[in-house]
Parts: sequence; C-alpha cells; structure tokens
Amino acid sequence: MARAVVIGSGFGGLAAAVRLRHLGYDVTVLEALDQPGGRAAVFTREGHTFDAGPTVVTAPYLFEELFQLFGRQSSDYYKLVPVDPFYHVRYADGSDFNYVGEEDRILAEIGRLSPSDVDGYRKLADHSRRIFEIGYAKLADVPFSTPWDMLRVVPAMARLESHLTVYQLVSRYLKDDRLRQAFSFQPLLVGGNPFHTSSIYLLIHWLERTWGVWFAEGGTTAIVKGLVRFLAELQVEVRLSTPVEEILVRNGKAVGVRTSAGEVLSADVVVANADPSFVYSRMIDARWRKTHHDKKVARKKQSMSLFVAYFGTDRTYPDVKHHTIVLGPRYKDLLDDIFRKKVLADDFSLYLHRPTATDPSLAPPGRETFYVLSPVPNNESGLDWSKDKGLGDAYLDKVYTELERRCLPDLRKHLTTSFYVTPDYFQEQLRSVSGAAFGPEPLLTQSAWFRYHNVSEDVGGLYFVGAGTHPGAGLPGVLSTAKVLDRVVPPAPGARTRLAS
Ligand SMILES: Cc1cc2nc3c(=O)[nH]c(=O)nc-3n(C[C@H](O)[C@H](O)[C@H](O)COP(=O)(O)OP(=O)(O)OC[C@H]3O[C@@H](n4cnc5c(N)ncnc54)[C@H](O)[C@@H]3O)c2cc1C
Repeated sequence: MARAVVIGSGFGGLAAAVRLRHLGYDVTVLEALDQPGGRAAVFTREGHTFDAGPTVVTAPYLFEELFQLFGRQSSDYYKLVPVDPFYHVRYADGSDFNYVGEEDRILAEIGRLSPSDVDGYRKLADHSRRIFEIGYAKLADVPFSTPWDMLRVVPAMARLESHLTVYQLVSRYLKDDRLRQAFSFQPLLVGGNPFHTSSIYLLIHWLERTWGVWFAEGGTTAIVKGLVRFLAELQVEVRLSTPVEEILVRNGKAVGVRTSAGEVLSADVVVANADPSFVYSRMIDARWRKTHHDKKVARKKQSMSLFVAYFGTDRTYPDVKHHTIVLGPRYKDLLDDIFRKKVLADDFSLYLHRPTATDPSLAPPGRETFYVLSPVPNNESGLDWSKDKGLGDAYLDKVYTELERRCLPDLRKHLTTSFYVTPDYFQEQLRSVSGAAFGPEPLLTQSAWFRYHNVSEDVGGLYFVGAGTHPGAGLPGVLSTAKVLDRVVPPAPGARTRLAS
C-alpha cells in the first residue's frame, strides 16, 4: 500500500492524516512532542485542566466532515456546546460590550453603546457576508499553486476592497471607537494586526455569525483526543516524541523522512504540518530548494507571539464570561509596539479564558481554571525571556495586577497554580521561526498565492498543511489547509476508497 508520512500532529496534521487515509494511504503521523495537538496541547496541574491554545471553536462542520468521510459522526468522539456571548469585551473606561450571534441581540448591544452606529453595523455585516461568500465559501479550501490562481480572484477582491485594512473598513461603517475595536480585533486571533491585515479577514465576523462559537466539553483537548482515537480506528499511528530531522529527497522527489533517532521511514507522500519556514530552512537540503532558499525564507514577516499564563483559583468568579477581551487604553499604538517596533509595552490588551464558565469539570469543585493571553512581539524583538533573566516573572506580575484591577479581584490571594509560556515556547517547543505564534503574518502580501503553497514547488511529493499555508492560522484555516489535500494529492494507486468530488 502506498505510504504517507505526516510531520506534526497539530489540527492541520491530524486532519491531513484522516484525509490521506481516505485517499487510500497507509499513514503514520510523527510528532516531536510527547502529546498530540501542537498548539492545542493540554496541561494539567493541581486538578485543573488547561487547554494550551485554541479555545474558540468556529465552523465545527469542518471537523464533522472528517468523521463523515468514513461514515462516522463527531458526537461519538466529543461533544460541542455553544458559548454565549461569543466574547465579552471590557473597555478601559469601564463600559462593556457583549459580542453575540443573533442579529436582534447584537443590534441591541450596539444601540446600548452607540445608537447612531446601528445602521452602520447592518452595512458592515452585509460587507462581511459578501467577503465571506467569496473569500471563505469559494476560496478557503482551494489550492493557490500558480499565479493564475491568484489572478483569477483579483477582480473579486478588488470589488470587495481587499486593499483596505480591517480597521479601515470597520471605521467606514462604525464611528464609536469602542465598537471599532470590538469589530476589528478578530485578525489578532490569527496573528494579524487589524491595522495592516487585509479587510478580507472581516469574513471572520460572518463566519462566527453563521456557525456560532463553540466549546468542547472537556476542553479543546477533547477534540484532539477524539481525532487521535478516530485515527487509531483507521489504523493510523500517531507516534509521539518522534521529531523528524530531515525530509529525504531523491531526484527532486520526497522519498521519506529521517527522525532525530536516525530511523528512516520511506514514503510516497510527505505532508509537513510543521512551520514551513522551519521545514524549508532546516529540514531540506539546500540543493533541492531553488524557490525556498534561505534568503527567501528569511524575508518572510513572521506573526506576533504570545505570553500565555495558566492559573487556577480556589474561589469562583461567576461574573467573568467564558471568553473575555480586556482592552487597554491604547489600541493602534499598542499594536504598533507589538508588530512594528517589537517592544514590550507597559500596557496590554488581554484575552481571558474561563473555561469553567462552560464546563466546571475542568477544575476541582469550588475552583476555577483560567488562562490569560497577551500578544507580545515575536523573538525578532531581541527580548530575553530566559527564566533566569526574570522578564517573564515581571511581566506575569503586571498582567495579574491588571486582572485584579479589571476583573479578578484579589487574584493573587487565591491562586492554586500558576505558570506561563513565552515566545520561547513557540520557538523551541513548537519549532516556529522567531517564536511566531501563528506562522507568517497574514498580510495581503503573504496570503493566498503569496503564502506558502500546499504543494511544494521545490520537492515532488511534498505537501504542506497548517497555519503557514493558505488559508492560514485558526482552526477553520488549518482544517481547510488539510481539505486542500483532496484536490492536490493523487489517490493512492489501487486504493479502493476514493473521494467522491
Ligand atoms: C494561545 C493560542 C490561542 C489560540 N486560540 C485560538 C482560538 O481560540 N481559535 C482558533 O481558531 N485558533 C486559535 N489559535 C490558532 C490555532 O491554535 C492554530 O492556528 C492552530 O492550532 C495551528 O494548527 P497547525 O495545524 O498549524 O499545527 P500546530 O498546532 O502548530 O502543530 C504543529 C505540530 O508540528 C510539530 N512539529 C514541528 N516540527 C516537527 C518536527 N520536526 N517533527 C515532528 N513534529 C514536528 C509540533 O510539535 C506541533 O505539534 C490559537 C493559537 C494560540 C497559540
């Protein structure tokens, strides 16, 4: 049977494994870390379960499709529950905004903050829908392998005004500064600066309105575990603690991989879920890389990074919603510090995750589980996050002070456990160039055809999935990258299972 090797078990890699199996391949997933999921890893401490990364599940049908390929259903593997409000935004001036899905409720919330923006929101939502119908429904799961693939979408993108940034387009329709922030922060969820990211990313708003925001019982890790169990039933092995050192190439074609333990696995198809900048620059001999030579890879603008603190408390905070955005006094200037100046600011905008709001079983009785995420510059900043330098501890202290002031009174008196990750985690553990949390920054010049291609131009039989490829980061994005494989990987020779197109 023809063989496929998938490097990495992030959601892109796990979804790729399902799709390759369906194309008839004998599939093995090789994961460097000691648990599957990549950014969707799980940490457990003192009875608290912490999802390390993704918590906002959108477009859940993309997971469902994977199970349906084999006549199964996701509900036999994990259960999703809706989250309401999608996000609760707390502003520095003490006001707040519930970002919800239903039109009448969101109009009422807008009316509460700024009555004169209600009509503007309707127009904004309509623009978002139009972008979604092209940018998502027609383009998210198609490969952008040639300049022609890009050229044919240029007229539609021009009509949708993709040259404008998310913030510019939102500001055209909404006048209230607080609402401009509430409707423009979404690119940050995929590593983009709303002041630089193309307005095409406004589609996220319509995607959330169309399919809602969900959370898995037991946390996002329940989805990872469900997919791994499903893969085991499909005879796909996910081998942990098995870093791949090199992709082996013969006559310009991938023929297998060599692990860091020196084991060679031959393969007809190799799919990399690891960061493409890392794969090209560190895992493929330079003589095979005419397109992605070191200089070209180094020119990529990497996305921001994150400081994420995970903590438990021995009291509850029932007033804090599941997904809370705690915005600081500065918006554009803070993002400029993070993305352009690459300095660590004294103020911050935080995302606070309180999963126990939806699933109390993630903490011992009477306790709460949280994480707080602060966007910070990637490691091109030169900041030294080594433990002994104290930068991380000092930053954590500031974040906790802000949380105590804004929404979690007496937090430090009630901590049961507390630990954090810095950009070094993304660089060293997850092997992402510059410690970028979301792969290359989603700029117009690094999107679609300009992003890493799903089909390698340099090496035959090598494919990419995950945040570094089109359409990019976020769960719907990386699941769509795996869906692209159906269009570009040939079914295994002689395979009985073929995908009905
Ligand atoms: C803190 C945080 C919060 C987020 N929140 C959300 C959210 O709420 N909703 C949302 O939609 N998105 C969210 N995202 C984005 C989303 O999590 C990611 O875009 C997505 O999970 C990335 O998936 P991926 O397939 O690219 O693989 P990754 O998760 O990046 O996994 C890649 C895997 O490859 C492995 N690997 C790398 N090199 C090798 C090698 N040489 N050999 C073997 N294995 C290797 C790594 O160990 C890793 O397991 C968040 C991201 C972060 C960091």
